[in-house]
Amino acid sequence: MTIRLRNGVKMPQIGLGVYKMTDSEETIQAITTALDVGYRAIDTASYYFNEEEVGKAIKQSKIPREDIFVTTKVWNDDQGYDETLRAFEKSLRLLDVDYIDAYLVHWPVPGKFVDTYRAIERLYEEKLVRVPGVSNHHEKHLREIEKHAHTMPFVNQIELHPYLQQKSLRSYCRENEIAVIAWAPLSRGRAFEHPIIQQLAQQYNKTPAQIILRWHLQLGNIIIPKSVTPSRIEENFNVSDFTLLEEEMDKIATLDQNDRIGANPGLENFMDHFK
Ligand code: NDP
Repeated sequence: MTIRLRNGVKMPQIGLGVYKMTDSEETIQAITTALDVGYRAIDTASYYFNEEEVGKAIKQSKIPREDIFVTTKVWNDDQGYDETLRAFEKSLRLLDVDYIDAYLVHWPVPGKFVDTYRAIERLYEEKLVRVPGVSNHHEKHLREIEKHAHTMPFVNQIELHPYLQQKSLRSYCRENEIAVIAWAPLSRGRAFEHPIIQQLAQQYNKTPAQIILRWHLQLGNIIIPKSVTPSRIEENFNVSDFTLLEEEMDKIATLDQNDRIGANPGLENFMDHFK
């Protein structure tokens, strides 16, 4: 299953997130399992300090490079035009690839994110990046980018799960043909025990994680659940053999409580979160 982006690039709708995978062997093993099961997208970032392992696992798999969609991101400390070009070179080297599929501004660092995005645009024009994008950008950041860039980002990776459904940002992205990638799609397990999720899991004979991931897919979100556990990696990928009814989608919609795990980029002082 792929999502066709505004520039025609097809991005797999399910990828493996690798945040907090710090043990080298475990990381390579998790990615190897994912590729064996059928995943064809990996979501990393320079901040995760595992780009090298991602590159190794891809090489070892013998799957052609062009069949695997690799996303990485520019960290906050590396933002700015020239800094981003340098950070890109480093990611390319660590991943040991000659282009990156999606390259994202990790957070909208005030005073810098527009220049960071403009550098990514240049890499796109040079065909070193197939999909220029952003992460954690709200409507106000996207409007700012629109004023200075040639092309709007093609993807926006945001925290998104049943407890934080981001309705208005999702609809702004839809109107501007910016595909939405959900980070922490499972809210790291927080909603698994919710009675509505439990009841649907029983009814469909699926796990709570599968119900939540299925809900995302039906909303059109791209998902990047993280797991180092082989059975879960497989479980998270097997969510295509059932369909939630509209009224069941509506029931999950009632779980929204604006509950965030990460920083809120809508706040002026959100960078304090990283201090
Ligand atoms: P997730 O919502 O993907 O949850 C991951 C946690 O859930 C892990 O502890 C994992 O455990 C557990 N888990 C995974 N699958 C199952 C399952 N089927 N049943 C039970 N438990 C399960 O959270 P993340 O924060 O990791 O988000 C996913 C990805 O999003 C990241 O890896 C990263 O790539 C990206 N991300 C991006 C951010 C950004 O700012 N752009 C910020 C944060 C994340 P275990 O591994 O032990 O199996």
